[in-house]
Amino acid sequence: MNIDSIQNGIVIDHITAGRGMELYDLLHLDSLDVSIAIIKNVSSGKMGKKDIIKIDADIPVDLDVIGYVDPNATINIIRDGVLAEKKSLSLPERLVNVLKCKNPRCISSCEQELDQIFKLTDKEHKQYRCIYCETKAN
Ligand code: ZN
Repeated sequence: MNIDSIQNGIVIDHITAGRGMELYDLLHLDSLDVSIAIIKNVSSGKMGKKDIIKIDADIPVDLDVIGYVDPNATINIIRDGVLAEKKSLSLPERLVNVLKCKNPRCISSCEQELDQIFKLTDKEHKQYRCIYCETKAN
């Protein structure tokens, strides 16, 4: 895979340096059968250093997950070798099945079929709480 010339795919750019792997894990990119490049510590004038993830396939990615890990990241959708679409992100109000509640007595820990849902309760501090028991996510 030539990482500079994706024909159809997604480039997640301006990821805060060091967060690329976290994003890779939370997006479950390891389970995909497509070419993926994580480029770490790229020099970037504006940010100092950044990470970039390039996915060589036009697959749906969970923008909520990316917004949660790094709302300052940018999403570039490449089609036929050109930038077709740019998406900006924000902290999602709700996260479904991204985080797991740490409270062992939470109903979502006991009932496996329940979705793990977290709600943004403090935007400034990026604080999420379980909607069932209000335990903090981090
Ligand atoms: Zn809970």
